[in-house]
Amino acid sequence: MSQGTRIDGRAVDELQASFRGGLFRPGDGGYDEHRKVWNGSIDRHPALIARCTGVADIRAAVRCARSQDLLVAVRGGGHSFPGLSVCDDGMLIDLGPMRGIRVDPEARTARVQAGVLLGELDRETQEFGLAVPSGIVTHTGVAGLTLGGGIGWVMRKYGLTIDQLLSVDLVTADGDLVRASEDQNADLFWGVRGGGGNFGIVTEFEFRLNPVGPYVMAGPVFWSMDDAPQVLRFYRDWIADCPDPLMTIAVERRAPALPIVPPELVGKHVVAIAACYAGPVEEGQRILEPLKHFGSPVLDLCRPKPFLEHQKMFDASFPHGWSYYVRSCDVAALTDDVIDTTVEYGRRITSPITSLGLWQMGGAVGRVDDGATAFNGRQTGFTFNINGNSTTAAGFDAEREWARNLWSALAPHHTSVYVNFLMEEGEDRVRQAYGAAKYDRLKALKRKYDPTNFFTLNQNIKPD
Ligand code: FAD
Repeated sequence: MSQGTRIDGRAVDELQASFRGGLFRPGDGGYDEHRKVWNGSIDRHPALIARCTGVADIRAAVRCARSQDLLVAVRGGGHSFPGLSVCDDGMLIDLGPMRGIRVDPEARTARVQAGVLLGELDRETQEFGLAVPSGIVTHTGVAGLTLGGGIGWVMRKYGLTIDQLLSVDLVTADGDLVRASEDQNADLFWGVRGGGGNFGIVTEFEFRLNPVGPYVMAGPVFWSMDDAPQVLRFYRDWIADCPDPLMTIAVERRAPALPIVPPELVGKHVVAIAACYAGPVEEGQRILEPLKHFGSPVLDLCRPKPFLEHQKMFDASFPHGWSYYVRSCDVAALTDDVIDTTVEYGRRITSPITSLGLWQMGGAVGRVDDGATAFNGRQTGFTFNINGNSTTAAGFDAEREWARNLWSALAPHHTSVYVNFLMEEGEDRVRQAYGAAKYDRLKALKRKYDPTNFFTLNQNIKPD
């Protein structure tokens, strides 16, 4: 374990003198709590944790880290799959205390600070029947999710999370505060919409809001894994021409031990199609009828419900502290081979919490000009999120191997990959996520805004 010896005590004292938030060093009360991230397989020990309460704290922390030549990790919600929001030895700049949200229901905009979690933003916006399209687990951070793109239940109707962005305030590697929007620092605004934390620390996001719910027709329908080949072929044909408000995720796993799952089903291998219709409930009921009546479902939880409730659906399946490993790829289409490969590996799942999720893309996501943002893959058909998980370190290696093997078996179908679903997979994979042309443009931007690669702990775009 690091003893935090790399940081000069005088530098910490100097920072402390003006800092409004909390500073934590190894041995301090609260240090272990604040160094933990969502993925329990990550166990790192920063020399200093700076829990920032505002822009002044962030700027002071950046100046201190620069003067001490420290490695810096930046944390929003702490949900980076590979744990990029915590480091050994360096400084963790934790934005967790910055939880302010200001909704303007008339203008349909929201200003959101960098430590806000998705569920907190939904709570404030749904009060007015509005929402920012975001992700599917409410304890994920708005910051990291937005900076990579942001995919979720209402993206096919309204676009990605970044497609709602009006502006960001950002602290650069020099400690300057700049605003980026279509009119100000437009190059930077292009880059932060998909380019992750490479260009600076976003302190606040300004989003456009969209009408959603408050009730939606949503939830999963389950079938036995024995039926998966037919269910997935039906599913492929059924969604081929589906309306934009419908978004679906196909899941293969062992049925989870949750109160909503009958005890006799728990642990059985199942395929589920989880859906959300982000339009009128009656329309959603009509659209979802064929799914609910295909074959012989073993459980049907798809019904009208508050959007807020639907957003929490996967929370219990991905709690903090378990060991998580993810592999991801995009595929153009659900060919018979893709379906049969997922079924073959789905049947082999042993861990009760390992799963594969297949996200339906398209709709409004694909209608935004591909060059408008750094995000790549607007034309992709489906995004795989292959999760090899275990509740403790025991058995984790086998789950990781299962995930890697499924990912490799799908290799002939890989197109791109969503940057927020990458582990630490090296520069080639980051390049693959952006495509060569965007990657080169991002490199040029990195040279302009962060030539020394001060912000290195991210899906890193090297300036050289
Ligand atoms: P953090 O771990 O805090 O940060 C991730 C990265 O972003 C780090 O490199 C960090 O340095 C950088 N960063 C964070 N905050 C800032 C900031 N303010 N300024 C600059 N850089 C910053 N993605 C989706 O699109 N849709 C989903 O539905 C979805 N569901 C998920 C569910 C779970 C359970 C998990 C673990 C992840 C999910 N993801 C999803 C992926 C998610 O988008 C990324 O893991 C994202 O990085 C999480 O954001 P965070 O703020 O919690 O992450």
